[in-house]
Amino acid sequence: MLIQLKQTCLPDQVACIIDKVKESGYKPASVKTASNHYLVCIGSAEVDIRTIGHLPGVKDVYVVEDSNKLVSRQWRVNPTQIDLGEGVTISRTQFTIAAGPCSIENEEQVIKTVSFLKKQNISIMRGGIFKPRSSPYAFRGLGIDGLKFFSKHCRANGIKVVSEVMQVSQIELMYPYVDIFQVGTRNAQNFNLLDELGKVDKPVLLKRGMSSTLTEFLASAEYIFSSGNEKIILCERGIRAFEKEYRNTLDLNAIPYLKDKSHLPVFCDPSHGVGVREYVEPMALAAQMAGADGVLLEIHETPEKAASDGQQTLNFQEAIQTFRRLRMGDAMRKNWWND
Ligand code: PEP
Ligand code: MN
Repeated sequence: MLIQLKQTCLPDQVACIIDKVKESGYKPASVKTASNHYLVCIGSAEVDIRTIGHLPGVKDVYVVEDSNKLVSRQWRVNPTQIDLGEGVTISRTQFTIAAGPCSIENEEQVIKTVSFLKKQNISIMRGGIFKPRSSPYAFRGLGIDGLKFFSKHCRANGIKVVSEVMQVSQIELMYPYVDIFQVGTRNAQNFNLLDELGKVDKPVLLKRGMSSTLTEFLASAEYIFSSGNEKIILCERGIRAFEKEYRNTLDLNAIPYLKDKSHLPVFCDPSHGVGVREYVEPMALAAQMAGADGVLLEIHETPEKAASDGQQTLNFQEAIQTFRRLRMGDAMRKNWWND
């Protein structure tokens, strides 16, 4: 059960609602986000929700059977829209392309990529400055200095910045320079990090853990929401399966499932999902047809020279073609996914 409280709900009214919830056999948790106050009620007792709905201070009561309640579409039927400002929104009604290098490498690279994206009408640039690398000897990112010039050139051109945060202490450092915090697959179940990202007022792009089930993935999103941040983008990026011919197994089944179960926007990252440059475009298009609301693509002027993930990175010419095909595909996606 999920109870949404009125903004005007007074503390003694909250206390009275909590008493009633407990009396009905439920365990309530109070969740305050930037725009709403909820009581997430855990339990399975039979309850006539009207007995709670009429209490002073209650805005609405919903029966939510899903274990991840706040991110569930059982109560919020209208999909969540995320406003990034300057006319950039993430929603189910329009397809979003976010692109950029795996890693930010130098200022010249940023300048060239920003100008390329601007010409291509892409308003979100990705780029890692804290890089989770499987080997400690690989390039691990430029850190905050890289983020500063990344952000400076993006802001000057109306482009939004998405970059990965790896630990709690980086949130505050990155905050002034990012528009979306990315949580990588390796941190998808770093619950301390998720809790802290729940306290910020900027959106979080949450990648699926490489061994997370979809319920666990939604539980990770529930952590962020229940700590106070409603602005979450789910991103399928492939899971570890037995196949070794490509980097990960992109679970496209996840896309319609997540759209059905959750009100949050659903993205797909085919670059990491398949890990082979030639297969990125078909998987991006397939994700779009599966209902993805956006894609995260790795692009680089010279992928052969990229500091990380060059093997799965599109060059600018390839990117132009993929963007064009995705834009053509968007019309078809809209016909199929008419929500
Ligand atoms: C990335 O986006 O560069 C990245 C490291 O992604 P993931 O966490 O999905 O591996
Ligand atoms: Mn990468």
